[in-house]
Amino acid sequence: MSGTSEGPTPAADLDGSAVTESDSTASPRTAWAYRSVFDAAPLAMAVVDREGLVVGANDQLGELLGIAPEALAGRVAADLVDLASDARSWHAYREILRGRQAKLRCTRRIKNPDGQSFWAQVMVAPLPQDGPGVVLLSVADISGHRELQARLRHLQMHDPVTRLPNRTLFFERLTAALEAEAYEQGGTGRIGLCYLDLDGFKAVNDTLGHRVGDRLLAAVAGRLTRCAEEAGAGRVSAPLVARLGGDEFALLVEDSTGTEQLADLAESVLTAIQAPFDIVGRRLSVSASIGVVERQAAGTTATGLMQAADTTLYWAKADGKSRWTLFDPERNAHRMTRQALVSTLRPAIERGEFTLEYQPLVCMEDGRLRGVEALVRWNHPQFGVLTPNRFIGLAEEDGSIVPLGRWVLATACRQARRWQLDHPEEPPIFVSVNVAVRQVWDSDLVADVAEILTETDLEPDLLQLELTESAVMGSAGRPLQALQALSDMGVHIAIDDFGTGYSNLAYLSRLPVSVLKLDGSFVRGFQYEGEGVPPNPADEVVVEAMIELAHRLGLTVTAECVETSAQAARLRRIGCDTGQGWLYSRPVPPDRISGLLEVRV
Ligand code: C2E
Ligand code: MG
Ligand code: MG
Repeated sequence: MSGTSEGPTPAADLDGSAVTESDSTASPRTAWAYRSVFDAAPLAMAVVDREGLVVGANDQLGELLGIAPEALAGRVAADLVDLASDARSWHAYREILRGRQAKLRCTRRIKNPDGQSFWAQVMVAPLPQDGPGVVLLSVADISGHRELQARLRHLQMHDPVTRLPNRTLFFERLTAALEAEAYEQGGTGRIGLCYLDLDGFKAVNDTLGHRVGDRLLAAVAGRLTRCAEEAGAGRVSAPLVARLGGDEFALLVEDSTGTEQLADLAESVLTAIQAPFDIVGRRLSVSASIGVVERQAAGTTATGLMQAADTTLYWAKADGKSRWTLFDPERNAHRMTRQALVSTLRPAIERGEFTLEYQPLVCMEDGRLRGVEALVRWNHPQFGVLTPNRFIGLAEEDGSIVPLGRWVLATACRQARRWQLDHPEEPPIFVSVNVAVRQVWDSDLVADVAEILTETDLEPDLLQLELTESAVMGSAGRPLQALQALSDMGVHIAIDDFGTGYSNLAYLSRLPVSVLKLDGSFVRGFQYEGEGVPPNPADEVVVEAMIELAHRLGLTVTAECVETSAQAARLRRIGCDTGQGWLYSRPVPPDRISGLLEVRV
């Protein structure tokens, strides 16, 4: 058999005539020795001639294949180990038989005549000393090895607590599913995902311990698996349930048919989780929040899908938990815009992208223009003109409201002085500027106002600052001192959107506040008069009482959002001092205010 230098045989060693070189002219004794090695070796082997027929096989091969070794002689070797089943191995095998290739190694699943199958590693190597094309075929049973490998892989890919597929396996399956859905015919070409997080799981873990926490997770996993099985009944496959970490789970639906299918699944999961759990003698109630994403597989990446699911889960939590929420591209775009806006706010102030519009504040008694409210706008190079509701909150969050607010204040005061200088014959109009809470806390508002008034040469009583109820309520310390100092300076303080908070009017009157701006929602309640629908008398009674009380406490009242003359008539009747709203004018650029001042001459 093998006469290579690697193969001195025990028999050859015994009589001291070790074969150290390839020789096809081995003595009968040596040949006999090789034959015994061949028979005794634990590896299953056969010698195959250049025609591919078995010349001789050892007992091990006979045993492995379930065929007597004598019966193997003369059989087509490739058929025994299924060598023709893949083109590459088949080609390599034939090349070896032709003496043109050195070695072949491949793995095969082989079936015994008695029906048992096993995994085999098949090796083919030439035996040149036995003539060209003669080869040694060896077959090793690697079933045990394969099984161990599979078990290890299972361990690596599954979560020990719930026995569910873990994050690694989930991502592997998701990636494979996306590829298959995107490129293979016959499916729906869509994919769906329920991304789930238990509400209040941390509390269970913290108060009852990890042992109870783990049991709960395992019980939840059981219910999720049942939901998946029910959803998969009658379909090709059930959704894959995986634990992604902590108290997060995912249900992956391949070949989904639309959002409705995912919504049904999410709904059934919520119901399943809501039923109480009995864990080590305790009855536990939990709920879940679920982010649902369903979309076309083409153009979707695993990370893209997970990001969308994550955002959607966050919405489900933010919307009140214990619910499922569907991914909404528009809501997402808004979130993206939000991020884009935050990052460009500060440079935008320096680049001068903000402008002010002014909205008239009109005396209800004689209809004359008394003042204007300055309202900021952002001429965004990418998103166009943005109203303050889009960015003031963001500016407050990141602190850029401080420089922005200072710019608004300076610009509005300069403009008010400009109107005064341009129309010396008219009684001057005041300018009302919105001030965010953070400006009172994080900047020296009093010093800024004093400086700006000096710089622009505007009289302090032509400036009004609008603060919200929440900014002034419970004011103590710094904000109150600031309000007092501003009021002492002669600046007017107004409470913006009055009535939306929980302010105590009596308390407000003790603060240095002189004006209440009644929130638009009160005025809206007046809208039906004269349109055939009876007005709600309760609204009017409330507003009338509020105005009366405000007057008694020495405050004047401005109504916001006056849109119809009917509303104006009723507001005038119940004693409202000033009105603001589309009935009089929308917010306009400063030259339009100049125009209004000229009309009155
Ligand atoms: P606000 O101070 O209550 O301003 C009134 C808002 O109501 C303005 O919206 C105005 O355009 C709108 N409005 C006026 N009349 C009517 C009407 O008849 N009907 C309706 N439906 N709406 C009317 P805008 O300009 O979008 O401002 C929104 C809010 O942004 C303001 O509410 C104010 O709180 C804030 N804001 C505006 N400019 C600034 C600023 O420079 N600094 C700060 N901190 N906040 C500002
Ligand atoms: Mg305002
Ligand atoms: Mg307001």
